Formats: sequence, C-alpha cells, structure tokens
Amino acid sequence: VELPIHEAVLGRAAEFGDLPALIDGTDGTTLTYEQVDRFHRRLAAALADAGVRKGDVLALHSPNTITFPTAFYAATRAGACVTTVHPLATPEEFAKQLADSAARWIITVSPLLESARRAAEIAGGVEEIFVCDSAPGHRSLADMLASRAPEPRTHFDPAEDIAALPYSSGTTGIPKGVMLTHRQIATNLAQLEPPVPTGPGDRILAVLPFFHIYGLTALMNAPLRKGATIVVLPRFDLETFLAAIENHRITGLYVAPPIVLALAKHPAVARYDLSSLKYVICSAAPLDARLAAACAERLGLPPIGQAYGMTELSPGTHVVPLDALHEAPAGTVGKLIAGTEMRIVSLEDPGKDLGTGESGEILIRGPQVMKGYLGRPDATAAMIDAEGWLHTGDVGHVDEAGWLFVVDRVKELIKYKGFQVAPAELEALLLTHPGIADAAVVGGRNDDGNEIPHAFVVRQPTADDLSENEIMLYVAERVAPYKRVRRITFINTVPRATSGKILRRQLREHT
Ligand code: ATP
Ligand code: MG
Repeated sequence: VELPIHEAVLGRAAEFGDLPALIDGTDGTTLTYEQVDRFHRRLAAALADAGVRKGDVLALHSPNTITFPTAFYAATRAGACVTTVHPLATPEEFAKQLADSAARWIITVSPLLESARRAAEIAGGVEEIFVCDSAPGHRSLADMLASRAPEPRTHFDPAEDIAALPYSSGTTGIPKGVMLTHRQIATNLAQLEPPVPTGPGDRILAVLPFFHIYGLTALMNAPLRKGATIVVLPRFDLETFLAAIENHRITGLYVAPPIVLALAKHPAVARYDLSSLKYVICSAAPLDARLAAACAERLGLPPIGQAYGMTELSPGTHVVPLDALHEAPAGTVGKLIAGTEMRIVSLEDPGKDLGTGESGEILIRGPQVMKGYLGRPDATAAMIDAEGWLHTGDVGHVDEAGWLFVVDRVKELIKYKGFQVAPAELEALLLTHPGIADAAVVGGRNDDGNEIPHAFVVRQPTADDLSENEIMLYVAERVAPYKRVRRITFINTVPRATSGKILRRQLREHT
C-alpha cells in the first residue's frame, strides 16, 4: 500500500512508544515517539478545525526545534502542502515565497512572529498565523493540542498530491518552488535506507536546518521512520555542537563542508569526547578529499561518506553506503541508489552518452524526480526532458566500479581558450596553501574579453604579505597550463550559504 508521508514516517511511532524521538540539545526537553504520534494527530485535527483544507499551502517558518516535525506532519495530515521557510529570511523574501506559493497559513515561532506578520501583510492571502510556542493574539500549538476536534478524514493520492514545496537554495538564480509528492519523498526515504541504515539506539544530531530538503530528509524523516533519536540544535555554534555530541553520545552526523572544515581544524575539537561517533556523512557542496581525510583522521573515524542530491530529486540519488566507507575511493559522492537511472552526457553534444572516466552532465531518471516547479512550466520543461530525464546541471564522471565524482556545476565551468576549468578544483588546490584561509574562483574577463579563472583569496592573518604572484605560481606548478589562475583579488570573506555553497554570483559582480 502507498502511504502519505506522515504515515510513511510515523507508521511505526506507536510501536516505538516511550523511546525518545526528539531531544532539545540546549535544555534536554524530550518528546517520545508516542507523543509525536499523538500530538501530530491532535494538531492535524485542530488545523482542519481552524480551516486548513486539502491542497492548502502552509508555510512552516521556524529554526530547528523539537516541535518542527510535529508541526510538519500535522499539516500534511490535515491535507496541506508544507512550504518550509528559511528562519533568517527577510520579511520581503518570505513574502515572495508566500505570494509565489499562494500560502494560506503560517506556523512560526514567537521570536520570528514580527517578520512573519510583515511578510503576510506584504504578500496578502494569509488566513491565520499560528505560533509553535506562544504569543498574544495568536493560537499556539499547545492550545491547539487541547482541541477535541475529530481527526480529519482526508483522502490522499500519494502519487499526485504535493506533500512539500521546498524552495531550491537560489545559488544559481532565484529560488524555485519544488513540488514533491508524498510518493516521491516516501520512495526516496525507502531508497536511501539500505545504504545508510538507522534504528533505535542511533542518536543523530540535527544541526543542519530542517527547512532545507537535506535536513528534512536525513535529520527528520529518515531517523523518525526508524525509531532513532534526534538531538535538535537551533543553529550551528561549534562549542554547543561539540558539547551536544559529547553529552548525548551522538552516533551519526550529517554535515556540510564548513562543519567538516571546523572539525578538521578548530582547536576546540580536541577538548571534547567525540568517541561515540560512528560515521560522518557530508553533502550539499563539493568536499575536498584532503580535508575529508584530515577530519576523519583527527576524529579517529572511518572515511567521511558523501551523498549527492538536489531539492528537485527529493533529494537523494547517490550515497556512500556505510558498509563501504573504507573501500570507496577518495572524493566520491557515492553510488547510485536502487531504482534510479543515471546517464552522463557530453556537454558539447548533449545527445551523446559518455563512458567511464569521461566528464559530462549528470542526468537522472527515477521515482524521486520532482513533479515540477510550481507555476513555472518553462523552467520545468528545461529541467526534465520528454523521456523523464532530469538534467541536474552538475558535471561528473563515474569510475569502473560505479562511484560518482561531481566536478562542478555546468554553469560555473570557466571556458579558458576553449578548455573547461572547474572552479571547485582550483578552490580545493588554493586551500592547500598554508597562507590561504579561504578561496573562491569565478570566470572573469581579461582585457581582450576572453574568460579567465579569477581567484578571490582570503589570506591567513599570519600571511598578510602573501602576494598575487606567489599564489599564481603555486597554482601554476600544480595544474595544466590552461587551468592557471590568471587574476587574483584579495577579500576578507568568501560569500557562502551555510551549506558551504559559494555565492559566486556575488563575486562575479567584482570581476
Ligand atoms: P538553485 O538550484 O536555486 O540555484 P541549489 O542548486 O544550490 O540552488 P540545492 O537543491 O540546495 O539548491 O542544491 C543542489 C546542488 O548542490 C546540486 O545541484 C549540486 O550542485 C550541489 N551538491 C549537492 N551535493 C553535492 C556533493 N556531494 N558534492 C558537490 N556538490 C553537491
Ligand atoms: Mg539547483
């Protein structure tokens, strides 16, 4: 039988009963599986009673809290489609998402209420704002739990009904609403489970945001589906994060590259007992193999496993199975999961399939490919072709054993005199220089208008005399001539999303 997402995830919640489902990493408040199960049903009834109807869009606007999952599954059980919102979005950004998604309801938290109110005012069309905790003049989830309204008898068509409407990160353009059906999300969870099994006794640290599809899947849906315990942190702060690993005996971490960097390099790491950790999985942005190795070695862990995906893929297609961490080659993002097809096609001749070791665009076909972008049929058609292949916009290659390596995004490749240069490769190389703290590379223009690799470099505080020439020479000694960095600008910080994605659009304005 096919189940809507709240059933697919919480189907065994009653069975897990008194096991802790969610623990607040800052104050220790705990929700058991029995409570999550009961609370989300009650809340679904109260939301339906408040007017939430099948197909309504509900904006969930909250940092990570132990209440977030209950609010999410209550909304889907009531028949709503949940659009998750970045808690740090400005009222204007939030209003755009409300208007674009035609959201009718908001669930927020009191510290963000003002921002939610302004966004609703700008966008219009919002019926009511609920708060998770409490705020005068607004119904709170706690009040609503006391409701005696009957459970809604919503009928679901998991193959057609949209469960979630996350927005893509907006790294390459404006964020787009990604329509994911109950079936797409539930199927992807089932596909990702065998390579990364979890269950009662596992303790996962939710430090990446639930609002992004990576956190939503790896840190909320996957562990709750299997009876694991989620320790929740509202934001990344290194010391709090390390203390939570020690105090809660965390067994598995899902992180993005900036956290790997901190774990590999920061002196504070040595002051904590991190011996409960069994694995670290990293995704969302390119991870340098040398950095990954340094981190694993310092923590005394098996090699860090990567995963690859995107919002449009519900989100996963590749992961390094936990039982293959040692055999996986350095730098791979993993193997294709079951029930999914992949092609690598030529960038010059898009119809042509490439062989082992050859880099081209990664195409994916499978049950986790999104239904489409909301209200953007042209963008959807540009992304998913007539045969159902989703064009990821990422460049990669596979080795003989099927391990995938992601090189960079197609759009970010720099064409130097007809040769293609991947910024991610140069950035990783620049970071190996002891005097360089951070770096980003984009396509700039030289005087005759040709594209050139242009590096933006943050020097270490101890290396403020490091010169442009020294850096260019350092790169030139280590890469083929066409990949040389041709221009350098020193900056104070590289603009990044918290996922580690470099916001190259911002740098391009300075080339
Ligand atoms: P937008 O599509 O709005 O420009 P975005 O592509 O950054 O934003 P996401 O869906 O959050 O939005 O990110 C997916 C992208 O993240 C992938 O297309 C890929 O470029 C990158 N990515 C994900 N996992 C990895 C990985 N393991 N290694 C390298 N890149 C990765
Ligand atoms: Mg994208």
